Amino acid sequence: MLTIGVDVGGTSIKSALIEVGDAKNPDTYQILKFFSLPTEARKGRDAIVGNIIKSIEQFECLDECEAISVASAGTIDWDSGKVTFATEALPGFTGLELSKVLSEHFKRRVVAINDAVGALVGEGFIGAGKKYDSVMMFTLGTGLGASLLKDKKLDCQSVVDTRLGHICLYEDGRECLCGKKGCAETYVSATALKKYGDDNLYKLFKSNDIIHKNLVANFYKDLTTVMLKSIELYNPDLIIVGGGVIELAEYWWQNFIKEYKQKANTPVACASLGNKAGVLGSVYAVLNGSFKNQ
Ligand SMILES: [Zn+2]
Repeated sequence: MLTIGVDVGGTSIKSALIEVGDAKNPDTYQILKFFSLPTEARKGRDAIVGNIIKSIEQFECLDECEAISVASAGTIDWDSGKVTFATEALPGFTGLELSKVLSEHFKRRVVAINDAVGALVGEGFIGAGKKYDSVMMFTLGTGLGASLLKDKKLDCQSVVDTRLGHICLYEDGRECLCGKKGCAETYVSATALKKYGDDNLYKLFKSNDIIHKNLVANFYKDLTTVMLKSIELYNPDLIIVGGGVIELAEYWWQNFIKEYKQKANTPVACASLGNKAGVLGSVYAVLNGSFKNQ
């Protein structure tokens, strides 16, 4: 069957036409087409929703598709597909009934889930987490997504958006888009590394500049702290790290692991599906998950 998966972030909207042989068999998911277009978040909610619609409508075979699913930034209620909270990365999204709006537009069921959850489901079932039961995933992108998949079940109790990206790492620290100060994502995200280090992350990780070196060392320390917190709270069998920063893993991952292994034993792995995790995960979720009201 043909399906469409969409992944909405603060800067780009990725969408894919995915052929699925057997919904339960992760080896039968095949991406046939993959597109990316700008979110244009600054233009506000209606423009973003318009771009999500555009990202779906560009597939000519839309009518033949048997499932459509959107994974989006923001806290999204698993059972209703409503955005219960979104930072200014997606202006006006708080309160948006995303799944309802899209279902009404396309006159068919469209499921909406959180983007970190989408990436987690992708990595957990199809990618790096395949062989593990409880999987925690951190997504280092515009923000810091942190979601948990308990016992490989896809229902509202087992898929948890932990919001660990907004735990306070430093009292009176950097200002966060959520309104609080010192949140983890203002230290551990692509945005933070670019803003306080170098817009070019490759240069940042390779830099010999002492300020940059300290910043990177603190990044390892802060990422470790957030992981320790997740182990304390959720005790996952595996922690996966994904998002834009992982594309540069060869320049930092080994150094980070040295820091991490001094403090924890829980296995950690790099995401293996790259920027395709969200689109694959959203489709895997809509085909295998149970949702009460979407
Ligand atoms: Zn915050």
